[in-house]
Amino acid sequence: MTNWDVLVVGAGQAGCAAAWDLAAAGLRVAVISRPHSRGKPCAGGVTEKAVARYRFSIEPVVREAVTSLAVSYSLSPVRHLKAATPFCVMTERTQLDAFCRGQAKQQGAVFHDTAGLRVIHQKADGVSVETREGESFSAPWLIAADGANSAVARMLGERHPPGAMAIEGCVPRKNLRDYPPMTLDFGVVRGGYGWLFPKGDHVNVGLYVWQHGVAAPERAALQRYCQARLGTPAEHVAGYPLGTWLPKTRLVNGRVLFAGDAAGCTEMLLGEGIYGAVISGQLAAQAVLGARPDVSYPRVLAGWREELQQVTQLGRLFYGLLPVSSRMLQGRLGDSLVNGFSQGLTLGQCKRHWRGAQSLKG
Ligand SMILES: Cc1cc2nc3c(=O)[nH]c(=O)nc-3n(C[C@H](O)[C@H](O)[C@H](O)COP(=O)(O)OP(=O)(O)OC[C@H]3O[C@@H](n4cnc5c(N)ncnc54)[C@H](O)[C@@H]3O)c2cc1C
Repeated sequence: MTNWDVLVVGAGQAGCAAAWDLAAAGLRVAVISRPHSRGKPCAGGVTEKAVARYRFSIEPVVREAVTSLAVSYSLSPVRHLKAATPFCVMTERTQLDAFCRGQAKQQGAVFHDTAGLRVIHQKADGVSVETREGESFSAPWLIAADGANSAVARMLGERHPPGAMAIEGCVPRKNLRDYPPMTLDFGVVRGGYGWLFPKGDHVNVGLYVWQHGVAAPERAALQRYCQARLGTPAEHVAGYPLGTWLPKTRLVNGRVLFAGDAAGCTEMLLGEGIYGAVISGQLAAQAVLGARPDVSYPRVLAGWREELQQVTQLGRLFYGLLPVSSRMLQGRLGDSLVNGFSQGLTLGQCKRHWRGAQSLKG
């Protein structure tokens, strides 16, 4: 058994953000995670507000900076929304995770690969875990950042409502006639959208649905979409759930704090999860560095929980009102959204900004 100041389970965006802050503050941090050989399914689009939250520049892993977004309903007509400065950067998720792990390592966090966890044991003053390889770790606090299928949550008996679901693949650029801009196509899947994210040497293509079960983004549907948009099939297709349940879930179980998708920190309208992962990881670290993390963590994350509650209502309305709502997005609302994103605003802040501008006009 090795003793640490904090354990972090999961070395994705939430786990690395937490590990960086804790190690930078001088704590002995063990990050226990599955190896990243295959990489987590993720389109790697990082909005400006997320870029601004990292403690370091992610420039070395940025493939494209995006100022234009093509939006359609059922593939046509397409409207190109333009922002004066980039609202999003494109990364390749395996590279982004490896880069963030490297940054946390430089601060002193120690990474341990595992095939999975065998046991979690909680006591009044600490928590211990044993991996499938038989290694044991203990610490006063554990941050569970092991994603939407969190094993830690499962082992502690936590339940959550269904989240969102997405499936993705990639098309090498050499297979393409035309290299597309960043694109969101609403109406190609029920309760969601199709996307094209250009990454330099390939295009990431995917389907998102806001609630798993309402519709399932299947392989065949993805290939139909890819064929219709790019005239060629996608390779390396993989799907994964997204945690969107923060408004309806507990953040703390004894000495375990949940962060990122394990806590349901992704917004459900577009399925943007990297921002929620980074801020919740940082806020979980902040809580662990203070007194009574179990009390302070829900408090410091309350603003994001409230924002996600509002975005969930907005999302239900948006998908319920298609295609009218997508027409609105193709108009001034969309321009306001990309420009708000380029200023580092969240969806909720963009909405308030837009409402304010409308009432001033009225
Ligand atoms: C297809 C798809 C496309 C997406 N595209 C975008 C996008 O473009 N932009 C965006 O902002 N969001 C996107 N998202 C959402 C985003 O990927 C997630 O919200 C984000 O990755 C959550 O980060 P996380 O660190 O909480 O969890 P994850 O990234 O899932 O990381 C979890 C970590 O825990 C590890 N782990 C898992 N199980 C165990 C275990 N039992 N033991 C130890 N370690 C374990 C994993 O190896 C991983 O390191 C997408 C999601 C999907 C599915």
